Amino acid sequence: MSFVEVAIKVPLHRTFDYRLPEQLDGLNSQLHVGSRVLVPFGNQRKVAVVLALKDTTEVPLNKIKSIFEVIDDAPILTTSHLDLLRFTARYYCYPLGETIHIALPSALRQGHCPDKTSISMVALTEKGAKLPSLKAKSQLNLLKQLAQSGKSSLTELKALGFNKKTIDSLISKELINQSIEHDNLWQQQAPTVGTKPTLNKEQAVACTAINQSTGFNSFLLEGVTGSGKTEVYLQCLEEVLKRAEQALVLVPEIGLTPQTVNRFRRRFPDTPIMLWHSALTDNERLQTWRFCEKASCAIVIGTRSSIFLPFLKLGMIIVDEEHDSSFKQQDTLRYHARDLAAYRAFQHKIPLILGSATPALETLHKAINNKYQLLSLTQRAQTSTDNKFQLLDMKGQPDQAGIAHASLATIRQHLKRNKQVMVFLNRRGFSPTLICHECGWLSECTRCSTSATFHKAIGQMICHHCGEQHPVPHQCPDCGSTQIFPNGKGTEQIEEFLTGEFPDTPISRIDRDSTRRKGSLEKALDEINLGGSRILVGTQMLAKGHHFPDVSLVLILDVDSGLYSCDFRATEHLAQLVTQVAGRAGRSGEPGQVLLQTHFPEHPLLQDLVNNGYQDFARFAIQEREDALLPPITNMAIVRAEGHSIKQVVDFLTDLVPVHGLTGIQLLGPIPAPLERVAGKYRFQLHIQAHDRPLLHQYLAQMVDYLSTSKLAQKVRWSLDVDPIDM
Ligand code: ADP
Ligand code: ZN
Ligand code: ZN
Repeated sequence: MSFVEVAIKVPLHRTFDYRLPEQLDGLNSQLHVGSRVLVPFGNQRKVAVVLALKDTTEVPLNKIKSIFEVIDDAPILTTSHLDLLRFTARYYCYPLGETIHIALPSALRQGHCPDKTSISMVALTEKGAKLPSLKAKSQLNLLKQLAQSGKSSLTELKALGFNKKTIDSLISKELINQSIEHDNLWQQQAPTVGTKPTLNKEQAVACTAINQSTGFNSFLLEGVTGSGKTEVYLQCLEEVLKRAEQALVLVPEIGLTPQTVNRFRRRFPDTPIMLWHSALTDNERLQTWRFCEKASCAIVIGTRSSIFLPFLKLGMIIVDEEHDSSFKQQDTLRYHARDLAAYRAFQHKIPLILGSATPALETLHKAINNKYQLLSLTQRAQTSTDNKFQLLDMKGQPDQAGIAHASLATIRQHLKRNKQVMVFLNRRGFSPTLICHECGWLSECTRCSTSATFHKAIGQMICHHCGEQHPVPHQCPDCGSTQIFPNGKGTEQIEEFLTGEFPDTPISRIDRDSTRRKGSLEKALDEINLGGSRILVGTQMLAKGHHFPDVSLVLILDVDSGLYSCDFRATEHLAQLVTQVAGRAGRSGEPGQVLLQTHFPEHPLLQDLVNNGYQDFARFAIQEREDALLPPITNMAIVRAEGHSIKQVVDFLTDLVPVHGLTGIQLLGPIPAPLERVAGKYRFQLHIQAHDRPLLHQYLAQMVDYLSTSKLAQKVRWSLDVDPIDM
């Protein structure tokens, strides 16, 4: 074998051949597919990954260059891992070299050969387990944390705010000890399992179905919040651990709360469980990577990109809150971790569990068509109460700050009963625009086709799309009038109004503005959990995952904006949001009340959602998509383009239309993006749809080929989004 085919991180949809130098020839046995090599590229040295060893090449022999050196003795990517990355690159039409680059931890990207990594774990000693009283509060808190979580890594403890001094002084008092972990002992013994509840009938049916399946099987575990999905995951994981296999648990970006992680740790106290998320350092990433490939770690709980971890013996993948949009990467390689999870499970012939209270229509469609097995949990595990939904017709209703008087009275009732109230509005700031009372001028961003939001507390007008910011004008820029007023509502205004209305009631606001400082979100959530604040005002940040036991009323203010939108997914997202927000109410035993303010109470979607729940709504919505020939019934891709010149952007997209007219492909566009102008650039898109998935990919492959030669493509910024989740 005299040649190698390699992938290099360059924006080109191709691989490259190199010659093996003479002196390497005898050492060919040391060069493997999946190893890194250093190669000349232009006048640079680049790290490349070997895809194939071969005897011949199509590159003329006087042109072909030799590799400089072999970096790895053993491959860093197995053939099945390379297969996953090849599939990813092909499916999302992204260059293979860049796909591999994105998947690798940074030390490996750069061609380093980091030594074996080891991880420092901290645990209570026998003396520490008795929780002796200590003067230093931080030391006591750390003991309590370890009593809750069991053995934890130093990094995690630091992430929870414990510093080295606290840890060191407890070590010197012999209350905790530190050990370096690097072993596979967990595989040689049955896992220790903490106390667990007896499954109810639906949970037992689900567990049995999953545990008895062989080979690749996908399950949709559909169950309201609190119905015991996590318990099903835990009991299925137990079986995986007994077989000494590894598992990946994918969670949304906000899912990695200490609550969740502690629950897994308490259940499997001796099992090495590692975390993977965006706040890890490069070194921590590398550690987790190494531990996975050696099977030194049994379970990884991770966000989106953990789908690329190199497990040695993967036995199960779980995707919790599978409908969550954070599983889809929205730039560069636009992959969906849930969909890649399906490919990986198929590759390894293992079960895939997708869990949600509000499954994505894509997933539900597959379940209805028996591609996925549907498992339902219909009851809450600990309480038997259902929330009471109510639509409040806003037509003719008097309101203040967008809150109807009737809603205000309801808030008052709940507060009187010493309950917490949640008010939800998906718009931050004080008001989305300022308006001139004399001439009708509206505050707009100068660089985007959208308004500039009024932020009263800091006295600034801010564009939420490009970030442009300037002081609030005192006069109308058009007519000079001083009669300019806030127009529309944001969370800041709701908070101000409710503070005036309930001056003695502590209020917390949770949105991107109020939680900008590090640790402030955690602090606010603690405040809510400890019962300090009684009214919670927030955007969708409030909707997800958090467990607030005292909330008995949820008031949703801006239902209508989701009903009539140019994005065909808006209603699905609205229904998911309403259901998730509503899931925050009534967790303490008595039914919660969910109040939706709307001008369209007779809207069939709202009626369906309120009377029959998400399950019913979703099946109805799939029918609608079927009638409109939209995903998930058909398959879609979007080419997005932006540039300073409308003509160049439109010409670029128009040029794509007639090029490869395959029958069975529907094209729509060029059409303006929902926000036509952002930060001074014009944005248009081309929608591509096909009933037949292979046909769509055939078309896209041809288009990508064409784009690599298109001169028009060089004048604009473009991207291709396969299976987009928004417009
Ligand atoms: P989900 O993941 O669907 O939100 P969880 O698994 O977190 O639901 O369950 C909600 C609560 O009910 C948790 O406190 C959990 O410990 C408890 N629980 C779950 N299953 C059972 C069961 N079979 N018996 C008693 N309690 C249960
Ligand atoms: Zn004016
Ligand atoms: Zn802007």
